[in-house]
Amino acid sequence: ILTSSCRNFSIIAHIDHGKSTLADRSLTGTIDKKGKGNQQFLDKLKVERDRGITDENLTPHSMIHTYNGQRYLLNLIDTPGHVDFSWEVSRSLAACQGALLLVDATQGVQAQSLSVFHVAKDRGLEIVPILNKIDLPAAQPNLIAAQMHSTFDITPDPDPILRISAKTGLGVEAVLKAIIERVPPPQILSEGKGERGGEGRFKGFLFDSSYDRYRGVISLVSVQSGVLRKGDKIQSHHTRKRYDVIDLGIMSPEEVSTESLREGQVGYVTCNMKESSEAHIGDTLHRVGELVDPMPGFKPSKAMVYAGVFPVDSNDFPKLEESIKRLTLTDRSVTISRESSTALGQGCRLGFLGTLHMDVFRQRLEDEYDASIIVTAPTVPYKVVYKDKKEKFVSNPTDFPDVLDSSGKVKEVQEPIVTASIIVPEEYLGEMMDLCFTHRATAMDHRYLDSSGRILLTAVLPLSEIVTDFFDKLKSRSSGFASFDYEDAGYQASNLVKMSFLLNSKPVDALALIVHRSAEQEVGRLWVKKLHKVIPRQLFEVPIQAAVGNKIVARETLSAVRADVTAGLYGGHYERKLKHLNNQKESKKKMKRIGNVDLPQEAFFDILSTK
Ligand code: GDP
Ligand code: MG
Repeated sequence: ILTSSCRNFSIIAHIDHGKSTLADRSLTGTIDKKGKGNQQFLDKLKVERDRGITDENLTPHSMIHTYNGQRYLLNLIDTPGHVDFSWEVSRSLAACQGALLLVDATQGVQAQSLSVFHVAKDRGLEIVPILNKIDLPAAQPNLIAAQMHSTFDITPDPDPILRISAKTGLGVEAVLKAIIERVPPPQILSEGKGERGGEGRFKGFLFDSSYDRYRGVISLVSVQSGVLRKGDKIQSHHTRKRYDVIDLGIMSPEEVSTESLREGQVGYVTCNMKESSEAHIGDTLHRVGELVDPMPGFKPSKAMVYAGVFPVDSNDFPKLEESIKRLTLTDRSVTISRESSTALGQGCRLGFLGTLHMDVFRQRLEDEYDASIIVTAPTVPYKVVYKDKKEKFVSNPTDFPDVLDSSGKVKEVQEPIVTASIIVPEEYLGEMMDLCFTHRATAMDHRYLDSSGRILLTAVLPLSEIVTDFFDKLKSRSSGFASFDYEDAGYQASNLVKMSFLLNSKPVDALALIVHRSAEQEVGRLWVKKLHKVIPRQLFEVPIQAAVGNKIVARETLSAVRADVTAGLYGGHYERKLKHLNNQKESKKKMKRIGNVDLPQEAFFDILSTK
């Protein structure tokens, strides 16, 4: 098959809008009769369902389709359904020339499809808009088509939107036709043409990888030029590491081993690569000794949300760390470092691509580790800019510069900001604007998506404002109707301060927070109240204070308790008395002593845990 007859495309869809059904139907012509659809439905992680994304990987499918007497090779390349994985999204889209934009005719456009659509559009991909599920009585194809015209900036005349039912097969033939006619073939680079008998130098673009216990890393590669064969010696442009190609082939949709992978093709490659961290998404592979220009714009994914993870029982740290390491074998985008805290003991600090990524990992970790963990409130990477123009990223409040900054070297502090998109029925617009406003939104804007009153609200917000409970509030204040997504919008200078908490005038390291100046009173009061509730009374009075620099912004006082707690118990209750004493001994062991104050470990769990 000639390169001009190859089509590489992906499907952009919100969860349950029919991506898997269309993939099965169009590329194999059949629907799995074993009720696989149902099983998939059950298998998905709850967080993913709640958040409306799909993290399940569609393996790339390849199929031959005959159209107008000519044979075409169609390659479906999967993209993560969420821009938390924006790096992966943009890399897998880089291996495609077109994208099917699939929207459920009963549900309409959702925020997640919108953000992935923007990435595809920016990359210059040919977009094939499709309305799915038109067989359902509840389908509103005309209304949803109007939504698509306005949201995706599609000219309605002639209307390019295909109307199909992936389930019944209605209109699926037209989808294949549109892929062939509208999506351009891959552009072949002519690097080193004429060498090796005219086939040119091999250049492969690594756009995805998976891990198999027996075979090691399985890389998905789109061949930009030349041919790759079994036994070839290849090299990573990024790491300079060398490998022997053990097996390669196409996905149809199961792996089918082939002799070679040629330019324009997309397939899998296994070699002696042992760790997923060696497979850098966006990397360029070439034959040893044959230099090629790497694919442009390679950058490793960057963690945007950090949280500390600690075992509830500190003896379990090795077990927790092992579980984390095992999970990162299959999720290379999580960064790990060790962290220790006076309050919580030994733990790990993990970095995630976004809040959804964090929630998904957390749920996997809880399943894998099978014991309780404490996840501390998430923080974002702040940028400290010094007067000598040096910059430093700080994600742990302990490392944040003090407001007093006696050195005078700090010019400003910047925080990551995002552009949020919220799609919601108009009656909730006020609630949503209010929610964004209380989360320090600037530059809010909204417009109607269609005549039924659905609205797209966009707002620029600090990332730190959406990493905790923003999503839950959004859902509850819109009765579950709002869909939400966000995109990275760079860094912005901000008036941020470090808040410390003092017990009996001594600071507690694990409790430090970074807050916006405008919220210092409110946050300080809230936390001081929380502490007051969970800290047991001591033999003496304990002031609990929130401080910014040397200014106290909030205070509560824990009154003293009488020395002998058994004093009230008399003779007849000897047993009870004994039990009480034992309890006291028992809890003594788990006490942390800060500023002369005895704190039970549980107090920290209550305060620091995000659950
Ligand atoms: P995905 O999450 O985007 O991969 O969605 P699925 O392909 O798993 O489909 C979600 C659900 O919608 C499944 O129960 C499918 O059977 C159903 N479905 C998909 N396409 C259609 C369609 O055209 N018509 C109807 N009635 N149901 C569909
Ligand atoms: Mg699916």
